[in-house]
Amino acid sequence: MRFYRAHSIDEALELLSEWGEDGCLLAGGTDLMAQYGRGEIAPGALIHIEGIEQLSIISSGTRTQIGALTSHRELAADAEIAAGHPALASAAGLVGGWQTQAAGSLGGNICNASPAADLAPPLLVADAHVTLTSKSGERRLALNEFFMDRRATARRPDELLTVIGLEPLPPGSAECYLKLGRRGAMDVAIVGLAVRLSLAGDGAIKAARVAVCSVAATPRRVPEVEAALTGTRIEPDALAEAGRALAEAASPIDDARGTASYRRRVLPGLLERAVMQCGEEIGR
Ligand SMILES: Cc1cc2nc3c(=O)[nH]c(=O)nc-3n(C[C@H](O)[C@H](O)[C@H](O)COP(=O)(O)OP(=O)(O)OC[C@H]3O[C@@H](n4cnc5c(N)ncnc54)[C@H](O)[C@@H]3O)c2cc1C
Repeated sequence: MRFYRAHSIDEALELLSEWGEDGCLLAGGTDLMAQYGRGEIAPGALIHIEGIEQLSIISSGTRTQIGALTSHRELAADAEIAAGHPALASAAGLVGGWQTQAAGSLGGNICNASPAADLAPPLLVADAHVTLTSKSGERRLALNEFFMDRRATARRPDELLTVIGLEPLPPGSAECYLKLGRRGAMDVAIVGLAVRLSLAGDGAIKAARVAVCSVAATPRRVPEVEAALTGTRIEPDALAEAGRALAEAASPIDDARGTASYRRRVLPGLLERAVMQCGEEIGR
């Protein structure tokens, strides 16, 4: 296997176009090196991109732009992310332990396309779009179109994920990410859920976005639940109805961390907590 260190986006793109499907991008390596160690992948070339500074930039504006190499630790500690994307900041602070957060990147979390990717639900409720760059140009895709299946994305072998664009939290809104895991740290989610909520002046839910991970082949938004919440008030009957819609919409599997029926059972309570938390925050 060949090892290359790319110092710029152009260098990485050149190597990707040269190696095609046999080339594999290496960012923090927290997913990739484990997969390599287990013999799940055997690339002809590793293209190490960790030193490309242009990919670690965070800029705010109408849409926040976050470079693909931004680490979980940077996301969890950045003041602009905390203000505009509190659910993302909190999810980043819940990924693995400190070493994993320091080495693991936002782009790696998305491109690895695990059903349990913690950063995906907060990104989905912020209408995230990814920019994929190749030698032939750039294309932008909504994150929900990027995730195709478990461990499968719409990225072509010659493309580098460069930037993730997000809609910051609008005024009168709140969002949060809740993760259910076996332990407080170092463990992937049994279920993860992000909610972004906007309330009207009379307390009715004006807009609701809900996204989940670990309960389907890909992290995803749940339009059925968003529709069930919109126009209602944060009251027990409405929350119970939305919780039922969420349990029905989920298609979890049994695995080492939890059974499908356990996952379905905990979803309504998690949704209720997240909606209440958002409501309290807006009311403050
Ligand atoms: C101990 C431990 C605990 C963990 N806990 C969690 C957890 O709680 N929650 C969670 O979500 N994850 C967890 N992870 C998984 C992992 O840390 C994250 O998915 C991480 O964000 C991956 O980023 P990376 O930079 O290390 O990616 P890498 O491992 O370098 O790459 C992952 C994949 O993405 C591709 N890739 C990387 N960057 C790009 C790019 N810019 N463009 C195109 N393709 C790219 C690589 O080719 C590879 O296929 C854990 C991992 C470990 C080892």
